[in-house]
Amino acid sequence: MTSAPPPPVDTHCPYCSLQCGMRLRPVEPARAGAPGVEIVERPDFPVNRGALCGKGHSAAELLSSRHRLTAPLVREGGTLRETTWPRALDRAASVLEKTATRYGRDAVGVFGGGGLTNEKAYLLGKFARVALRTANIDYNGRFCMSSAAAAHRAAFGLDRGLPFPMEDVARTGCVILVGSNLADTMPPALRYLREQQAAGGRLIVVDPRRTRTAEPADLHLQPVPGTDLALALGLLHLVIADGHVDEDFIATRTTGFERARASAMAHWPERVERITGVPVAQQRKAVELFTEAGTGMVLTARGPEQQSKGVDTVGAWINLCLATGRAGRPLSGYGCLTGQGNGQGGREHGQKADQLPGYRSITDPAARAHVGEVWGIDPDDLPGPGRSAYELLDTLGTDGGVRSLLLMGSNPVVSAPNAEHITERLRSLDSLVVCDVVLSETARLADVVLPSAQWAEEDGTMTNLEGRVILRHAAVAPPEGVRTDLYTLHELAARLGCEKGFPADAEEVFEELRQASAGGDADYSGITYDRVRKQDGVFWPCPDGEEGTPRLFLDRFATPDGRARFADVSHRPAAEVPDADFPLHLTTGRVLAQYQSGAQTRRTPELNRAAPGPFVELHPRLARRIGVGEGDLLAVTSRRGRALAPARLSGAIRPDTVFMPFHWAGPGRANTLTNPALDPVSRMPEFKVCAVRVEKAPAEATETAEAAETAEATGMVEVAETVETAKTAGESS
Ligand code: SF4
Repeated sequence: MTSAPPPPVDTHCPYCSLQCGMRLRPVEPARAGAPGVEIVERPDFPVNRGALCGKGHSAAELLSSRHRLTAPLVREGGTLRETTWPRALDRAASVLEKTATRYGRDAVGVFGGGGLTNEKAYLLGKFARVALRTANIDYNGRFCMSSAAAAHRAAFGLDRGLPFPMEDVARTGCVILVGSNLADTMPPALRYLREQQAAGGRLIVVDPRRTRTAEPADLHLQPVPGTDLALALGLLHLVIADGHVDEDFIATRTTGFERARASAMAHWPERVERITGVPVAQQRKAVELFTEAGTGMVLTARGPEQQSKGVDTVGAWINLCLATGRAGRPLSGYGCLTGQGNGQGGREHGQKADQLPGYRSITDPAARAHVGEVWGIDPDDLPGPGRSAYELLDTLGTDGGVRSLLLMGSNPVVSAPNAEHITERLRSLDSLVVCDVVLSETARLADVVLPSAQWAEEDGTMTNLEGRVILRHAAVAPPEGVRTDLYTLHELAARLGCEKGFPADAEEVFEELRQASAGGDADYSGITYDRVRKQDGVFWPCPDGEEGTPRLFLDRFATPDGRARFADVSHRPAAEVPDADFPLHLTTGRVLAQYQSGAQTRRTPELNRAAPGPFVELHPRLARRIGVGEGDLLAVTSRRGRALAPARLSGAIRPDTVFMPFHWAGPGRANTLTNPALDPVSRMPEFKVCAVRVEKAPAEATETAEAAETAEATGMVEVAETVETAKTAGESS
């Protein structure tokens, strides 16, 4: 008699912040080298209603990828060699401890990721503050969401990326989408815009490139990169000048309008056209569309946020919402389309340098007392704020900087700005311990590599871009030799003298997270695994015994007086503007088939075939001017270095701007070029704009680029080439 196949498991995509629902169906019989599950539609999950993009569809391939790490590695004699778990954990704990003893606790650093589950982010923060007792923990979400988060908190008193569910986007009168290319980053979300336009709504897209998201818009504004702040001020100027201000709303629900008005009036349309390149007529049209509709939203993404004035830029777009009464009302408001899978939850539970769980400030005595009590430690023993992500990486290996680093779920060799410099800093560390699924470019520099279980092999919650807490379920067992990151933290903490307080079970961690977040801004105390399962996710804040909160701010904003605050902001140029030596703007972004640093998607054959390598997108007029054609290898040079990639001609980009996707390492690495100038408030680097020179690459560069391309096409550097197998007989893992 054959037994019934195991039932399908409902879970979520491992990639972006939409966290599309999917169903994993066991494949019978399981074949060697196959993932053991196939992905099928899950039409009942409301956010994506069954739709998936190519990344989600192919996600199961990575479970059985030949690139997966299946044993811990330690560096011996300059080479990474396979070892057992006890040996690798002993070595990792020992190097972290030695550094703390020799240089002090803050010489040990922790770097997390916006893709980690809430449980991992929470336990990593606790591990840093309690087991290592270092102030220096931050994460790569600082590179993605921090400017919008800071602006959100300043204006509304609370940072939840979208204060409404995605379904509301489909029902609003007008959407201004700023610096977001949903068609490539999260295609299933386009449905909401299509439904919105089909119902008579208007769509305005602001982007220096005419992307596939901008194509169907009612209006596309194409500003010079780094000038979104001036554009937002200019639109507010027209709103005021043309009498579209909602005086009642401003009087009853906001503060600070007078200063915002004064700043906007200094940004008249012709001045804004000179700064942004957006014609006055288009500015007027945008204001007409936005104010004619009874309801409206402004949604921003990395375009306006990844700037050295990202907080002010987002603040200016929020001002536009507040002045027109399009906030804190049904079907209206400002929202940030978070990028990484757990970009929202990852910033709420303590892996940020300045925060404790529940979105509490680490400098708030009451917050320290609450979290200290949950963790069973004296609040005075909690470290204070540490360095922000780029500042932490920038000082690696230096006197007074971090000398040994534990890194989980991040690949800064590819994803950090000024990446060559950061790579050098990583090389200069006394010790680097990396937890990852594959031997990423950063893991290749490590002294200890601990192989991590993947999304379909472990339980854990994520918080999607709407603030909806969802649950990923384990559907298959991880390969022999692979452990969950919670297990790794549990074992490392025990070796550092913390036998208790670091459970390896995800639900147990979540139960503690509920207590730690209780009473905080991001209150999860009423959320349980069971509720999440039954309700297709629960929106925070959700205090114990209450329902979740899909829509925020309808009665009052989360500020002490309940009023939203206008931002007092003025235009200023990007940190680096074109000049005679570097005459063009570079802007960076993503392509449809790759995700972030590409650690996973570049190892998925289907995706790698669709987007096999970097390129430089430039306007045909610019190409003619510099004498290059389609496919020519270009050298793109900024003050920080040079990148090589083939030309891709497109009339969709401004002639004064070139675009490079940032998913690749090697000669085509876009982040070799990017500017680490930081926003003074959020400490977010200016990924979205810097000055470059573009020319045909010299002949000798072609060989370098071709070699890199071949390595990429054949699966990059094989694990076998860089790792020696040295398993000791008789040792158990
Ligand atoms: S849109 Fe995002 S969450 Fe949905 S399938 Fe694609 S990558 Fe996954």
